[in-house]
Amino acid sequence: APQNYDVVVIGSGGAGLAAAIQACDEGAHVVIIEKMPTIGGNTIKASVGMNAAETRFQKLKGIEDSKELFYEETLKGGKFKNNPILLREFVELAPEAIEWLASHEIELNDITITGGMSIDRTHRPADRSAVGGFLISGLVKNVNKRNIDVLLETSVAEILFENDTVTGVKVVDEYNDSRILNAKSVIVATGGFSANREMVVKYRPELDGFVTTNHKGATGSGIAMLQKLGADTVDMGEIQIHPTVEQTTSYLISESIRGGGAILVSQEGKRFFNEMETRDKVSAEIIALPEKSAWVIFDEQVRLNNKAADEYIGRGFVVSAPFPNELALKINMDQDALQQTLARYNQFVEQQHDDDFGRATALRHPLNHGPFYAIRIAPGVHHTMGGVTINTDTAVLDSHKQVIDGVWAAGEVVGGIHGANRIGGNAVADIIIFGTLAGRRAAAHARR
Ligand code: ADP
Repeated sequence: APQNYDVVVIGSGGAGLAAAIQACDEGAHVVIIEKMPTIGGNTIKASVGMNAAETRFQKLKGIEDSKELFYEETLKGGKFKNNPILLREFVELAPEAIEWLASHEIELNDITITGGMSIDRTHRPADRSAVGGFLISGLVKNVNKRNIDVLLETSVAEILFENDTVTGVKVVDEYNDSRILNAKSVIVATGGFSANREMVVKYRPELDGFVTTNHKGATGSGIAMLQKLGADTVDMGEIQIHPTVEQTTSYLISESIRGGGAILVSQEGKRFFNEMETRDKVSAEIIALPEKSAWVIFDEQVRLNNKAADEYIGRGFVVSAPFPNELALKINMDQDALQQTLARYNQFVEQQHDDDFGRATALRHPLNHGPFYAIRIAPGVHHTMGGVTINTDTAVLDSHKQVIDGVWAAGEVVGGIHGANRIGGNAVADIIIFGTLAGRRAAAHARR
């Protein structure tokens, strides 16, 4: 006999878990369905943090910020292609989402910065570790406390829709057995499609051959299922390549390393761009270098300020040396060139002005504390800004902007919020803001 639920959540990334917790707290009987053997989706790999303006934690640190500025900088970063109504909602609800997490014992009270932002507004864990693992483990604790059903290695093959409303989902388990789960509401939180090479190349042929930072489950199945119900899509060709990906492991080198003071240096030993520009622009500059790759260079002070650095060292792809000239030797770089580049950059830090490339943020401290470190990087496919269309209730819309009854979507599966380029720290904000909202709306719909 089919099982009955109020709310089915498809996907166990940040958006799905937040949605499930919120729906449960509003009295709904909830199940989370995850096709992979583990919980956390691509969210578990999120590195830098969660952006929000006018938060309690910013105020505690004396950081003055405004929602208006956050809105403007995100819109500029997105090349003015963002859906302005969704972006307003996003910026407005961001500080509440920070508080929602804090009230669920997930406190992001340390603050840093990412490319394209002018103010420290990227919230991260107190120990400055990567946000993804911290976030997912905190959300999972909340899911377990509420005894929410989680089905792993179970994939949703179809969303069932009859008489103008959703009726449930068809799932296929690890033994390839399929069955029906009845539901009054379905939340699609299936993430993006960066790991679906065919789909990426269909929209952006020039990205063939690029590595991806994403987990295997990022295949875009939610988009296809929703299209079958008539859902519209937007910005499908807007695919973000992240500038700093270690190519032998496809491991992402967090923007928080640059945000903590690191620089980018070409094989020639020279800086070539403002490291704190948006991801699209930094990526384009790296691809334009003769080697199509570059080096992230930092010193001991940057390492001490960023837990991720130790993880990279542990993974074995960081070259280190006590002095810059020895580092240069190890990476086949001209020794004088690197030393001159560091000396010149350190002078910019001293004067808090970058005469060469106009880096205006994260001129944190001179890079002069050995050991020195280098990681070879090149861009990789990282985030799909496009996806299904929603309204400010997270209800999925068809091509006539009409709501498809009983279906909500949140997280990377949704298009429009980030426009043509997502700002680092805005994906985690997106999944918590719109995930909790989807949970609330889906629970209310189930009570109807
Ligand atoms: P977001 O950041 O938007 O929360 P994530 O990528 O973190 O997205 O999580 C999406 C999750 O959804 C992944 O764990 C992925 O394996 C899962 N998923 C994708 N498609 C399906 C499907 N058809 N059935 C079940 N789970 C799915």
